[in-house]
Amino acid sequence: MHEPIVILGGTFDPVHIGHLRVALEAAEALSVPVRLMPAHVPPHRSAPVASAAQRVAMLRVALAGQDRLQLDTRELDRSEPSYTVDTLRQMRTEYGAARSLILLLGADAFAGLPTWHNWRELLDLAHIAVMTRPGHDTSLPANLETVVVARRASGVADLRATPSGKVLDLPVTPLEVSASAVRALLAAGRDPRWLVPDALLADQDLLAPYRN
Ligand code: ATP
Repeated sequence: MHEPIVILGGTFDPVHIGHLRVALEAAEALSVPVRLMPAHVPPHRSAPVASAAQRVAMLRVALAGQDRLQLDTRELDRSEPSYTVDTLRQMRTEYGAARSLILLLGADAFAGLPTWHNWRELLDLAHIAVMTRPGHDTSLPANLETVVVARRASGVADLRATPSGKVLDLPVTPLEVSASAVRALLAAGRDPRWLVPDALLADQDLLAPYRN
């Protein structure tokens, strides 16, 4: 039986310790590496500040020296908008119908799922593991709640036993860090140390797109 494939999509503009820490905790909980998958032109958001190449360069530096978090640049290799449903269809074709695919989402991102392109199809293609912050209860819109109720996974084993269709809550350490806060700090000329991996600070060029 093949290992599940786990992906964390995002803009990573820039990658920060919130992304890295929760992805690592998810990798540990699921006992498989997590692939960080930078998005090209996220359809539901404004354009990233850093270019795709710059965001990948930051991710490469951040992920160097370990293998539990990996980089998957497939969305950057396409020219059309990187709808998650398209990416999952492509992965389903590549890995076959039986392979477990797991989409990792922050609880806030999950609550917004009904605004995503063809969102109902996502659970036909993959499981969703929702990274929840203990003590933070994010309420779900009614149409999403209806879908989730019938699909709750009882544990990680459920996600390994079937290819798609389950929703699992994964409690992770709450880290109140966001890329927008890091960008604002850099634009104000402040020091982002300990909000981003040290390796990003070692190379002056990496964070230059955010500095004024
Ligand atoms: P921005 O501030 O620009 O909106 P962001 O910090 O939320 O960016 P994204 O690249 O949009 O970063 O996030 C990718 C994924 O990582 C999303 O599913 C998001 O919910 C999750 N994520 C980002 N930051 C954290 C955090 N501090 N804790 C848990 N999950 C996070």
